[in-house]
Amino acid sequence: MGCNNLKMFTPIASEHAMKPHNYGPLSKFDGHARITGPCGDTMEFWVAVREGKLERVAFITDGCGSSRACGSMATTLAEGMRIEKAASLRQRDVLDALGDHFPEEHCALLAANTLKAACEDARQHREEATTCTTCAKQCAASTPKKGESDRDFTNRQKLQSRLCRIRHKIVVLSGKGGVGKSTVAVNLAMALTLMGKKVGLLDVDIHGPSIPTMLGLEDKTIGGDKDGILPISLGGLKVMSVGFLLKSQDDAVIWRGPMKMNVIRQFLQDVDWGDLDCLIIDSPPGTGDEPLSVCKLIGNLDGAVIVTTPQKVAVVDVRKSITFCRKLQVPILGVVENMNGFVCPKCGEVTRILSAGGGKRIAEDMEVPFLGSIPIDPMIAEACDSGQVFIQSYAASSTAKIMRTIIEPIALLVEGEAPHDAV
Ligand code: ADP
Repeated sequence: MGCNNLKMFTPIASEHAMKPHNYGPLSKFDGHARITGPCGDTMEFWVAVREGKLERVAFITDGCGSSRACGSMATTLAEGMRIEKAASLRQRDVLDALGDHFPEEHCALLAANTLKAACEDARQHREEATTCTTCAKQCAASTPKKGESDRDFTNRQKLQSRLCRIRHKIVVLSGKGGVGKSTVAVNLAMALTLMGKKVGLLDVDIHGPSIPTMLGLEDKTIGGDKDGILPISLGGLKVMSVGFLLKSQDDAVIWRGPMKMNVIRQFLQDVDWGDLDCLIIDSPPGTGDEPLSVCKLIGNLDGAVIVTTPQKVAVVDVRKSITFCRKLQVPILGVVENMNGFVCPKCGEVTRILSAGGGKRIAEDMEVPFLGSIPIDPMIAEACDSGQVFIQSYAASSTAKIMRTIIEPIALLVEGEAPHDAV
């Protein structure tokens, strides 16, 4: 770890150490890099480029005083510079700017190297952008990445060409199974469809693909044409699920790691979604390889909705889901607390079956939006089992009203207005 003894620093170095400039990630950026130096300190840089110059540069570090001073000085020097020049800033430049005999030279090297890597990342993205065959925008990759095989490159191009026709992509996550993630995904997708939006619902919950049952599509099989695999249409909603590939609901899905990844990739890349306003992705639960593949393959997700139940054990997993999103820079649209109390259908009295309020507390604690709580409602389970969508079939119920309120910020996002506080 770096030096924390500010007495050894020049006044300018201690100012940068104590009040680092440009500290914290950029929400919109063109290049990003993260490097851990031999001393164990990690630095992360973000650069936003405009007309060939670094319009904004930001960094974070888990190191102490000297790391902060070097990161802060490197961002200060680089801001406003042409990208090529910023990429060639050296350790010496950072040290000279911090004043005489800066004690921790390796921190300056780490800052210069991380800045350089972020600039290179931005340049690579710029070079990659070329006209896409499907939307005629600058979104498809034109050149293979270093070491990328022809096949991987063709697949990547295919994936980008599909995804660029989908305006908004939202993933529904949960720390574990059985908390109502698919229920939220289905009702969200249907609510947006009922608003007149073109919506896709992709179920990649490999171990428990419940969406065919929830939508009464269990007997459907998928086909394809020259443009790819055709999703099943349900009114205006296009649906694709791992479940359509299984001969019977009882078929255990015993695919191994790489096969699972291939299925997820194939669903994103080969399904002919056409033009969509929004794709809702029902992700496998947890924070393992499968949700990671979903988030990485899609790349520019609008955000994640995290579903939990209110009790402590489930809430512990939410913390992991939030950290997972933050690491992958997926904006968190909010936490939904499901099964929060049972509302008696006869007298309306609320009985707390699971302990209450855990989802709200964790959202407050981790400073992410809380979207609301859905009570346990036997009609939800009944709707799911009978292939009806609750928010549509029980539209007049008080629980459906609660669901609509929860969905409202996401509907605003799809309408084109950013949710007020996605983080
Ligand atoms: P997950 O996708 O997290 O595994 P599901 O959405 O499949 O969870 O929900 C599991 C079961 O719980 C389903 O049978 C569903 O109908 C039921 N369920 C979900 N939310 C509620 C609720 N608020 N009230 C009653 N039943 C619910």
